[in-house]
Amino acid sequence: MPADLYAVYRQLLVFSAQRAYNPTVENNTEFRKLPSVDELVRSGRIKELIAEHSRKVVVDNVRKALASARESIARGESAPDADAIADIVGRELGRITQMSLTRAINATGIIIHTGLGRAALSDAARRAIEAVAGGHSTLEIDIKTGKRGSRQDHITELIVELTGAENALVVNNNAAAVLLALNTIARDMDVVISRGQLVEIGGSFRLPDIIARAGARLIEVGTTNRTRISDYQQAAWQNEPGLLLRCHPSNFKITGFTQDVSLDELVALGSQLHIPVMDDLGSGALVDLVPYGLEHEPTVQESIESGVDMVTFSGDKLLGASQTGILAGKSEFIDQCRSNPLARALRVDKLTLAALEATLHIYREGDPFADIPVLSAIARPLEEVAAQASKLARRINSLKIDGLNAYVAPSTSETGGGSLPGQSIESRSVALKSRGLSAEDLGRRFREWNPPIFGRITRDTYLLDMRTVNPQELGDIIGRARSLPG
Ligand SMILES: *Cc1c(COP(=O)(O)O)cnc(C)c1O
Repeated sequence: MPADLYAVYRQLLVFSAQRAYNPTVENNTEFRKLPSVDELVRSGRIKELIAEHSRKVVVDNVRKALASARESIARGESAPDADAIADIVGRELGRITQMSLTRAINATGIIIHTGLGRAALSDAARRAIEAVAGGHSTLEIDIKTGKRGSRQDHITELIVELTGAENALVVNNNAAAVLLALNTIARDMDVVISRGQLVEIGGSFRLPDIIARAGARLIEVGTTNRTRISDYQQAAWQNEPGLLLRCHPSNFKITGFTQDVSLDELVALGSQLHIPVMDDLGSGALVDLVPYGLEHEPTVQESIESGVDMVTFSGDKLLGASQTGILAGKSEFIDQCRSNPLARALRVDKLTLAALEATLHIYREGDPFADIPVLSAIARPLEEVAAQASKLARRINSLKIDGLNAYVAPSTSETGGGSLPGQSIESRSVALKSRGLSAEDLGRRFREWNPPIFGRITRDTYLLDMRTVNPQELGDIIGRARSLPG
């Protein structure tokens, strides 16, 4: 914009702002009609609100309501009376006192949905959280000696037994586990990794960035689609590697003309050159998913078995527990990680540990496919999912909402959350068609319900995938459908 035009534009802005905020003579009387904060606070309606909420929050909101009333008067509207202002304050208090983080219904068919909180916890994990949440706990106390212990003691033995590792350490999430391991083992040294494994997970976890932040130098070898053991060998000779890193491509798949180095080959090279080897598995499966129609997902036990020095994986992906990152491997390295000051900054809290311990007990002593929601959603027979879809479609149609039609449609679920990329699980959805509402409108109305319900849209049809919905949640979905227009 030329300078003079810009000046005119600014003048116009100033002028219109003055008009908006300078009361004109006519609405001066309107301003005078507005009750004062004191008058309002003494009124019955506002007194009731004060009794229910705190005085401070009510008075703050009375002030806000008066300020916005003054703005509308300045725009030429008339003054609201005390009752109208009390209504506004009451509605606003109703809104701000609502919990923002609430339960939601996942009808997307994506079992581990990061936006919807990843793994749903087992009953045992929920009971374990409940048991330690309200009071004190044995978090860092050794009950035999009464002395200070380590919070890690609650889970180390379980992880060691389940994975075959010598030792284990739990931190806040897997990104933290990778950061801690790299910073402990490879700080100021080179980390050798295949170009095909330089992953980004969910936007904010980019392996090259984590390597840099850990104080290590990245040495990429091979190409995006093919890497050979000789590539690692050459890199090891030409640099001073502190670590050979493998990262499981957990959220994408490279197909076609590809070649990859097996963990066994990498471990053999590592031991020949005395360089530690680490495997970032990400998804952290402890059980084989092949019997449930999925492709083989490398398990933690297999990685440990191959002889790697450390494995890192998430607690809230396929493992189905709370948000944690687990490091498992040789004591020599785990102990070093434990005494790194970063470990303190990345430590887990008691609720997280309680849920993790309870979940690990299910793997050791219980039936994971029956009791861990992530695994039971994968293992749920298609007939059961289909029966639930027909029941819901029937119940929605029996509401006889003019213009709304529900029917069962085949769909595909996926595990999601950075696990088993490109693999789908056959599922069944309830498709909704409305004469008056588009698929997007339906999506919005279901989302804005209490509890929010998340479906998905495929080819202009709104779908509620039943693989990720429990039978107890059908009532909420029917409740939403009942008040839909056709
Ligand atoms: C998911 C994932 C991570 C990050 O784990 P968070 O628990 O989300 O922090 C790191 N590496 C791989 C390979 C992953 O799949």
